[in-house]
Amino acid sequence: MKHLPHKTIERLSQYRRALLICAAKGKAHIFSHEIAKIQHITPVQVRRDIMLIGYTGTLRKGYNVQELIDLIGDIIDTKEGLNVAIVGIGNLGRAMINYFNGKRTKLSIVAAFDSNPDKVERAFSGVKCYHIDQMGEIIKNENISIGIITVPAGAAPEITEKLVNSGIKGILNFTPKPVNVPSRIYLEEYDMITSLEKIAFFVKTHA
Ligand code: ATP
Repeated sequence: MKHLPHKTIERLSQYRRALLICAAKGKAHIFSHEIAKIQHITPVQVRRDIMLIGYTGTLRKGYNVQELIDLIGDIIDTKEGLNVAIVGIGNLGRAMINYFNGKRTKLSIVAAFDSNPDKVERAFSGVKCYHIDQMGEIIKNENISIGIITVPAGAAPEITEKLVNSGIKGILNFTPKPVNVPSRIYLEEYDMITSLEKIAFFVKTHA
């Protein structure tokens, strides 16, 4: 399972969200073409992803919704869940906490870090903010394995280095500044402004 393609992992997470909605509506079985329709992809793609995790449905009924939810959970989640920290509790960091907490039980934002003394020692939507210099200690004590970077772009490389030195295992970089990490760290970079500008370009050229 370690070698599943990254795109498959992304789609499995999306399938699970769709399956949870189906389960809540009392649907017990689902066909690949139904999942495909919800996700706007091909049934072949759905079948390929689900085959990769070693699951098969029946010709007559399709996939068992709950079994598939559980199996995806076994692959993506850890039993105890994972702890996450936000670095930079500005507008974006606060929005992330508000948006995220309570949505997924297996990932929880348990700490925030900031350099602004007005923010340190305060709680933001129930998440305590620590001074950035306490990062190493808190990450270790709170068993935090994922860091989300929401500081201004210029501070991203320095914060990345701090996170890496603190023993973090995965990073989501929300700044427009690309960062470098050692190969043992899993890095995702999401720059909202680039995404929006890409959309703006296509909107303009297709107008
Ligand atoms: P606010 O007005 O609440 O500061 P903002 O979204 O305008 O919000 P930004 O300037 O984008 O704030 O900064 C985001 C957060 O990152 C702020 O809380 C800021 O204090 C923090 N920050 C900036 N540089 C660093 C750094 N080097 N280490 C830790 N935190 C930092």
